[in-house]
Amino acid sequence: MSEVIAALRQTVSSLHGELTRYGLVAWTSGNVSARVPGQELLVIKPSGVSYDDLAPANMIVCDLDGVVVEGDLSPSSDTAAHAYVYRAMPEVGGVVHTHSTYATAWAARGEAIPCHLTAQADEFGGEIPIGPFALIGGDDIGKGIVATLSGHRSPAVLMRNHGVFTIGKDARAAVKAAVMCEDVARTAHLARALGQPLPMAQADVDSLYDRYQNVYGQSGR
Ligand SMILES: [Zn+2]
Repeated sequence: MSEVIAALRQTVSSLHGELTRYGLVAWTSGNVSARVPGQELLVIKPSGVSYDDLAPANMIVCDLDGVVVEGDLSPSSDTAAHAYVYRAMPEVGGVVHTHSTYATAWAARGEAIPCHLTAQADEFGGEIPIGPFALIGGDDIGKGIVATLSGHRSPAVLMRNHGVFTIGKDARAAVKAAVMCEDVARTAHLARALGQPLPMAQADVDSLYDRYQNVYGQSGR
């Protein structure tokens, strides 16, 4: 058990480096968590610690009610939202939250990102949806994430007036969704700024999504 948690401390700590590498976060905002497989636990970043100082040893282990099990620091202030998602969606193994600039600009307008790009069809299977406005603390953010993403192809939700939450089969997949969400949001913003993006046929979106999710990449990835 402790070996699994030690490996996840390493994984979650190093994945935070992807948030800064892709320019998705400012100061100490943003967070990555991973479910501990087969246990009612998650690993998440501590609250308010500089990205330069994040290390496997200062990651926090919490139960799925957000109560600290291992760690000396307070967990991320978004821990309740992550924990709610793990409780409600057993297939989810990783959760990421950012205020990445372009995606959050769509969230500020409460506007879903329509699917005008093959890359968005591949990764998100259609629009990237808007979730409800919710104040931090308690289960409201988690409830909004789960209500929006349950039964939706998109692994990303733009929480209104707030930012991005993504889910994945593991933490790495959730980080990828956060990176791709910002990439798509930036291109969609620029396309909209200069004109009216062209629609895509639903059948083409479906075909791209199916191919990318089931055929693309290395087998056994
Ligand atoms: Zn936030």
